[in-house]
Amino acid sequence: AKLQQRTGHLYFSRNMGIDIRERVNMMHALRTAFEERRLSVVYQPQIDMTTRQPVGAEALLRWMTEDGSMISPNRFIPIAEYSGLIIELGEWVLRQACQELVRIQSLGFADFMISVNVSQVQFRHPHFLNMLRNALHDTNAPAHCVELEITESMAMEEPDALIKLLDQITATGVSIAIDDFGTGFSSLSHLQKLSVDRLKIDRAFVTEITDSSRGSSIAEMIIQLGRNLELDVIAEGVEDERQAAILTELGCPLGQGYLFAKPMNAEALHSWLGTHK
Ligand code: C2E
Ligand code: CA
Ligand code: CA
Ligand code: CA
Repeated sequence: AKLQQRTGHLYFSRNMGIDIRERVNMMHALRTAFEERRLSVVYQPQIDMTTRQPVGAEALLRWMTEDGSMISPNRFIPIAEYSGLIIELGEWVLRQACQELVRIQSLGFADFMISVNVSQVQFRHPHFLNMLRNALHDTNAPAHCVELEITESMAMEEPDALIKLLDQITATGVSIAIDDFGTGFSSLSHLQKLSVDRLKIDRAFVTEITDSSRGSSIAEMIIQLGRNLELDVIAEGVEDERQAAILTELGCPLGQGYLFAKPMNAEALHSWLGTHK
């Protein structure tokens, strides 16, 4: 038993060693990339599927490595959270997005909205609200055109603190969307207590929409929930016309996905918007 324990321990620590070393390497590489301005923000249009007009865009982070390849935010956001860099990085994304919003509105898209993803680590930070107010103030971004996306799991935590924070954010004029909706377990009674403006149907439920699933799909249930709670609903990951048609028919005219546009840099977004005026 002793030997087993020892080898078990050895095995464990060796694996941990590799894991941690890899993580530390990535942490350093990420920090360097941030300092060397190799991180950038891309924007994916959000569309009114009935008119095909853009109504806003979601800001998404990108990491370009030195050899020109792209690292997915799904891989490096957890590292940024683990190292604490997400606090600085998240503020930087918000400020970039606010500046971009001001530019787009000056191009003639007066009601254009910008959505920014917020990590739970940022959200729990004691200076989050001040950071948000300062970013709005310094960039001159109209608060009512800025939306923060929090995930459904974040929306379920610590009820009292969360209710208060969401109320304070709402008081700035900024709106809140619950991202990846349908993947968590938030209850109707809980949702009712939160200052939230819209639900974002997770791509998984958009993908599963078929003619035959009509009437029983999770997407339809979320659209119904939005109606009952008087919340807007937007679908992410819309990839084909059939999904767009069914969503619209079900009462969800807002969508985002490869069918309409992929995430693009600011310059590309400007020309894309130019063709959608
Ligand atoms: P998310 O917030 O759910 O973002 C949607 C993801 O789906 C994006 O992936 C987007 O590029 C992708 N997508 C959009 N339309 C389609 C489609 O039609 N089909 C498919 N297959 N995919 C589509 P991306 O950019 O790789 O981002 C992955 C995740 O990383 C995001 O998921 C978000 O959770 C996180 N993330 C990205 N940027 C930030 C950020 O600035 N801050 C934080 N905290 N998280 C971020
Ligand atoms: Ca999102
Ligand atoms: Ca999402
Ligand atoms: Ca998602």
